[in-house]
Amino acid sequence: MAGFGVLSVHAHPDDEAIWTGGTLARYADEGARTAVVTCTWAEGTVRAGELERSLDILGAGEPRLLGYADARKPESAPGAPRFLDVPFDEAVGRVVRHIREFRPDVVLTYDGYGAYGHPDHVHVHRVTLAAVEAAGYDQLYPDLGEPWWPRALYLAAIPRSVVVSHWRAVFGADPEPGQTLPGVPDDRITTTLDVGRWGERKWAAMHAHQSELERGASMTLLTGLPEQARAQLLGTEWYRRVGHTGPAETALTA
Ligand SMILES: [Zn+2]
Repeated sequence: MAGFGVLSVHAHPDDEAIWTGGTLARYADEGARTAVVTCTWAEGTVRAGELERSLDILGAGEPRLLGYADARKPESAPGAPRFLDVPFDEAVGRVVRHIREFRPDVVLTYDGYGAYGHPDHVHVHRVTLAAVEAAGYDQLYPDLGEPWWPRALYLAAIPRSVVVSHWRAVFGADPEPGQTLPGVPDDRITTTLDVGRWGERKWAAMHAHQSELERGASMTLLTGLPEQARAQLLGTEWYRRVGHTGPAETALTA
């Protein structure tokens, strides 16, 4: 694992812990280099401080904040545009710069639905996809560092069966008929990572985001779960692997 690099790109402080915290902690313990880019919230805000503590717990280095505003919280970056409103090329370039600087083997971000539909998450997915593809081309963003090709991109996703089986425990009721549920069909998941041994670390990193817990953000729903159900949810992280620049293949493989 020595030298292997994992770069996780997220929308908000707390997502690194919620969606990829187990993966980051596991790979850091196994000797990999790990880092997190966070697209919204500016340095000097309470949540930037919480991010710093979370990254410390996960062993993922210093915050790499792009400093744009959260779609729904102008106070996240006073005077800065919303990440959603920044010209696409500018946003892609900011992520390209981090990819070229950190030189990850693997990049992590959310799937096309942003794991559960938050517009900032969906946007981060699109920007990261474009940045991973652009980072290797010396013709693109030539002033933003030496080209670098990550080997693969892993998109954090939730299998539909997990959503359905935990819905009642998390929300206290069954989904409404016709309600749009998060998650992807189970057979779209390519990688199920057992992070059970790192569940406590992930939970501790989530708790570093104290202001989110205090305002009753969605992760507080997990606090109310029976310990066994919570450990089960925290102990696994799911991904869809896309992109591959490994050994040449002579055919498309399913
Ligand atoms: Zn988020």
